[in-house]
Amino acid sequence: MPSIVAAIEMGGTGCKVAISDDNGQFTEQYSFQVVTTTPENTLGEIHDWLALKKSERPFLAIGIACFGPIDLDKKSKTYGYITTTPKPGWQYVNVVGAFHDLNVPIAFETDVNAPAMTEAALRGDTSAAYITVGTGVGVGLAIEGRPIHGLLHPEGAHIKPEHISGDDYPGCCPYHNSCIEGMSCAKAVADRLNILPSQLNTIPDDHPVWNIHAYYIAQLCASIIYLTSIQRIIIGGGLMKRQILFKHIRKHVQQILNGYMDLPAITQNIDEYICPSQLGDLIGIQSAFDLAQTVIQK
Ligand SMILES: [Zn+2]
Repeated sequence: MPSIVAAIEMGGTGCKVAISDDNGQFTEQYSFQVVTTTPENTLGEIHDWLALKKSERPFLAIGIACFGPIDLDKKSKTYGYITTTPKPGWQYVNVVGAFHDLNVPIAFETDVNAPAMTEAALRGDTSAAYITVGTGVGVGLAIEGRPIHGLLHPEGAHIKPEHISGDDYPGCCPYHNSCIEGMSCAKAVADRLNILPSQLNTIPDDHPVWNIHAYYIAQLCASIIYLTSIQRIIIGGGLMKRQILFKHIRKHVQQILNGYMDLPAITQNIDEYICPSQLGDLIGIQSAFDLAQTVIQK
C-alpha cells in the first residue's frame, strides 16, 4: 500500500515540492513552487516548506528527482550532490544533505530516470526511456523496474550527432559544442533565430527550425533504440509542449532507421512508441512520489 510521502522535482529554472494524498498521488492543496535561484535560497525554501507542513501532514519519506549530473553512488563522499552541472553556482551542491534533519528516508534519482521508472510501471512495460527537451536535454532509462546507474547515469544527450543539411549552427554545449543537447536545447533553437529562449513561443509551428530541431532529438531516439531495444520512448520538457515536434521526430526516426528495425512499433504504431507522458506536467512530481515509496521501511 502506498503511504503519504513528499516529493521534490528539482529543475534548472523551477522546482516543485509536494506532499501526496494517502494513496501517494499528487494533491494541489499540498504543493509549492520555487523559482531556482542560488542553492542556499532554493533548497532553503523547499526545506522550510516541508518542515512547516510535516506537522500538519506527516510524510514517511522524501523522493527527489533532480537535474544532473548527480552522484548516485552511495559509497561516494559526494552521494546526493549535483556535480559538474554547467548551471552557475550549482556545482557540487549537496541536495540530499539539505533535508537530513527532517528525519525521514530520502530517495535520490535523476529527473529523467525517475520518470522513466514511473512511465514503465504505469504502462506495464518492462522498460522505458524518458527524454526531456527544454533548457537542457536529458535522457533516463529504466529497465526491469530499475533505473540505469553505473559509472554515473545515462548522459545520452551528449552524443555527437550528424548535422542536418543546411544547418551551420555550431552548438552551445559548454563541454562539447555540437552534441545533441548543444544542437537542440531551447537556447540552440533560439540562437538560430536570433531571439531569446523565452521568445520561442512566438515562432509558428510551420517554421522550418522545428524540423531541424527534431532531427537531433530523433538521432537520440535512434541511438537509444539501437543500444537498448527499449520498449517505449516518452518525451517531455518545455519545448515538447509543441505537439508538431512529435510528428517531425517520429518521421526522422523512421527515416534514420530506414527499415532496419522492421517492427510494428516502429513502422506502424510509432505514435504510441514515441509519445508524451500520460501524466503531462505531473510526471516529474509523481515520479518523485514513486521514488519515495521505495525507501519506506515497511
Ligand atoms: Zn554536450
